[in-house]
Amino acid sequence: MTYQNFSLSQLQAIDAAHYLHPFTDHKDLRASGARMIVRADGPFIYDSEGHALLDGMAGLWCVNVGYGRHELAEAAYEQMKELPYYNSFFRCATPTPVLLAKKLAELAPKHINQVFYGSSGSESNDTALRLVRHYWALEGKPEKNIIISRNMAYHGSTVAATSLGGMSGMHEQLGGAVPNIKHVMMPYAFELALPGESDHDFGLRAAKAVEDAILEAGAENVAAFIGEPIMGAGGVKIPPASYWPEIQRICRKYDILLMLDEVITGYGRTGEWFAAQSMGIEPDTITTAKALTSGYQPLSALLVGDRISKTLVEKGGEFYHGYTYSGHPVACAVALKNLEIIENEGLVERVKNDTGPYFAKMLQERISGHPLVGEVRSLGLMGAIEIVKDKATRERFQPEGSAAVVVRDHAIAQGMMMRATGDSMILSPPLIWTRETIDMAGDRIVKALDLALADLSKAK
Ligand code: PMP
Repeated sequence: MTYQNFSLSQLQAIDAAHYLHPFTDHKDLRASGARMIVRADGPFIYDSEGHALLDGMAGLWCVNVGYGRHELAEAAYEQMKELPYYNSFFRCATPTPVLLAKKLAELAPKHINQVFYGSSGSESNDTALRLVRHYWALEGKPEKNIIISRNMAYHGSTVAATSLGGMSGMHEQLGGAVPNIKHVMMPYAFELALPGESDHDFGLRAAKAVEDAILEAGAENVAAFIGEPIMGAGGVKIPPASYWPEIQRICRKYDILLMLDEVITGYGRTGEWFAAQSMGIEPDTITTAKALTSGYQPLSALLVGDRISKTLVEKGGEFYHGYTYSGHPVACAVALKNLEIIENEGLVERVKNDTGPYFAKMLQERISGHPLVGEVRSLGLMGAIEIVKDKATRERFQPEGSAAVVVRDHAIAQGMMMRATGDSMILSPPLIWTRETIDMAGDRIVKALDLALADLSKAK
């Protein structure tokens, strides 16, 4: 039975009857019906009605090598025939995750040499939380268990990952977070910088909020700080250059572990293999997922620095944690092939030296002057466009977030898949985008902004 035997309205009816989608208002979805994406190739996705859309989000920040990579399908097929599954519990291993761990240690910053696998970013952040608390317990300091995070952080949707995150709506529905996680201000200059405050000074002030939280809790009670190098789901918020080095200095001063969540930024998005390298910091853990397989298989890898792994190995004692699919051989085979593609095609260098700067120039020259745009920002192939009602005062349209949805809907109608988060339009395309693809995206975004301006002016 294939989907071609069904009309769009039949599929939508079945979807409405049986499928509860993630992060969805189910009443809303039933009123509108889902768009069916049925196939994809290179930078394009295609819906059931034959419309081609340029995928400005790489799926969900993950399809870094683009669609239609048969080598990845073949890698999965070969591994499935040889050994579809075996676990790594009870002193067993399978070769593919072992070889992937070696490869990841080679790509990661020098002080990172060990890997713990899961199937999603959320799971990996659960692992990270468990691991840092376990580390301090092994070090004889179990009271050091508070974790500091930021408002609007997104670390996933399991109970622990929701607790680590700083999304208030998610916390409300959770009705009781994992204890001992504190949230401080985010480094978002566009909304939070004081009048006349430089980006540099704002970055230091946002970092100081972490130091204040440490002092308030007592450094002897704080295990770690966690953050996304660039807040992704919260709106591609790129901190000032002063922020991360200062965070690292503070963590070292108070002997607090630094956990970096690179689920979005890992594997080339910022023009380095890891954003830790873009930010000039050496975290103790790096959470990765998504682009590790370019989304062709679910897989996450928590990269664990020498400080933590040395204690685990020297002190011993079982770490009571793991998943059936930790080190799934098929997912790991796809990851190995995916990393080989990224390397062979020089995608990371291309983002750093060519497409990343060209993307920034396109946003600056073609988008930033638009009457609806308060700011554009990007690093590598990750960017945001702030939608405002008044360019000079940065006043937003009301209700908040409504204008960005108008832009997004026009963008999709123009063949440009992009996302609205609050009043930020966000972009995180596959790393295979060329200058031509970036120009095409620019054309479509400008058209969408013009059409949205006409609609929003009527509504004023
Ligand atoms: N961390 C970050 C920074 C993310 O952006 C996401 C997902 N967008 C996650 C964790 C959770 O990953 P997953 O959805 O694979 O659980």
